[in-house]
Amino acid sequence: MATTAPETGKLIGNYVGGQFVDVDPSRDRLEDRNPATGEVLAQVPLSGAVEVEAAVAAARAAFPAWRATSPMVRARAVMKLREVLDAHREELARLLTTDMGKTFDDAFGEVGRGIESVEHACAIPVLLKGENLEGIATGVDVELVRQPVGVIAAITPFNFPAMIPLWFLPYAIACGNTFILKPSEQDPLVSMRIMELIDGIDEIPKGVVNLVNGGRDCVEAILESPGINGVSFVGSATTARIIATRCAEVGKRCQALGGAKNSMVLMPDADPDVMTQGVLGSAFGAAGQRCLAGSVAVLVGSKEEQDRTLQLVVEAASKLVTGDGADPATDVCPVVTPASRERIEAEIAAAEAGGCEIVLDGRRDGGPGGAELAPTIIDGAGPDHNVIREELFGPVLAITRAADLAEALELVNASRYGNASVIFTSSGKAARDYRYGVEAGMVGVNVGVAAPVAWFPFSGWKDSIDGDLHANGSDAVRFYTRSKVVTSRW
Ligand code: NAD
Repeated sequence: MATTAPETGKLIGNYVGGQFVDVDPSRDRLEDRNPATGEVLAQVPLSGAVEVEAAVAAARAAFPAWRATSPMVRARAVMKLREVLDAHREELARLLTTDMGKTFDDAFGEVGRGIESVEHACAIPVLLKGENLEGIATGVDVELVRQPVGVIAAITPFNFPAMIPLWFLPYAIACGNTFILKPSEQDPLVSMRIMELIDGIDEIPKGVVNLVNGGRDCVEAILESPGINGVSFVGSATTARIIATRCAEVGKRCQALGGAKNSMVLMPDADPDVMTQGVLGSAFGAAGQRCLAGSVAVLVGSKEEQDRTLQLVVEAASKLVTGDGADPATDVCPVVTPASRERIEAEIAAAEAGGCEIVLDGRRDGGPGGAELAPTIIDGAGPDHNVIREELFGPVLAITRAADLAEALELVNASRYGNASVIFTSSGKAARDYRYGVEAGMVGVNVGVAAPVAWFPFSGWKDSIDGDLHANGSDAVRFYTRSKVVTSRW
């Protein structure tokens, strides 16, 4: 039986072969709630192998004709997707705020960044062009062509429910693959709405794009399915390692982008306003639930300089308004669930018990939805403490100190993660030394969040990625194609 849009509190289905399909009602389901209010928005079915295999069958059936479709025609289909998404940008952003919690401005920006990936994929006839070398021997020419991989599955996290599916979907289909999305079970409504929009695009044939809702069992079925050739994953480092290991065992192509612990190096010569605004946006924007969030501030300089920098940050952070992301007055949205707030608060309590000073304490009763936590700043944590080493994924900034840039770089590079790192300084030499020496793939200079730009790969390093090819940029085309080298003598 067909279903249409997810309605409030209703059981949502999957999108398979150009149809919205119900999932066996005996399957377990999860409640998807608005983190700001606690309102139940939808029941999310936890699909298993049967549902995944239905999507695989649809995607496999659509693959030969889609692969044979000219890249120009595929590009036009992606252009249509861009037009439709742009026309619904505000609606998608409002839905995103309701489902995931982030502020409307942040959600609007997120949808815009997702659209940029679609725009980049519109250039696929140029991006797919191969290479050739004439006359490598007498009368012998060699050329490299790029061919699609087959069926791609994308498994995505809760924190960017619009942008991250759009890091993958447009490139995968533009390259001639067919596609299955498994969105986060915590907030799948934006992805479901995008499927409805895709359903209205005649240029994207049925079965080229599919969606299966679910959690672990669904991922397990994706990894087990011989009909799926490649997996794009974004989520925590622990899950990324599981996905990458399993894909390697069964011979699936895989890119698994994981978690992060990003440091911000605050030099004493930094412009105070630029630095303070950058630090606040990075540490507390989206309640710290970004893989690029700066969650450690390294204060550089003399003790006096360090204390002055800390005072600036604490004073500004204490003025931020925490509340419902749908309220324009809100700076800091709730975290994704009350359970997430409890987990983060337990980390703050552990830091306190371990001798750290909570210089700004954001713990409160959780607000109407039970998921609010205001900005929290923790001073005095040592290099081995969890608040310095591990991702808390909340509005918590840990403070550490270094006498000079060399010491700061040592602290930053001790992390097992390497997603991003930023420096605030007015010295070109310090900026240059830092960008040269820092072990992170996304680097900001006087920029709090070194945000992804579709035309460049999202370049996490170390435990922030398992795999060699990143999302977006030229890496996306390489990941979604196999190269074939043809040697000809005529
Ligand atoms: P998560 O790892 O819990 O879930 C991500 C996806 O994996 C979901 O679709 C989920 O259903 C599935 N999943 C979860 N546990 C699983 C398991 N044990 N086996 C199989 N599948 C499983 O991540 P999340 O909490 O949704 O997202 C936040 C994390 O994502 C943070 O660590 C953040 O840093 C990271 N992230 C990374 C990037 C990046 O580009 N590197 C971008 C955004 C988010």
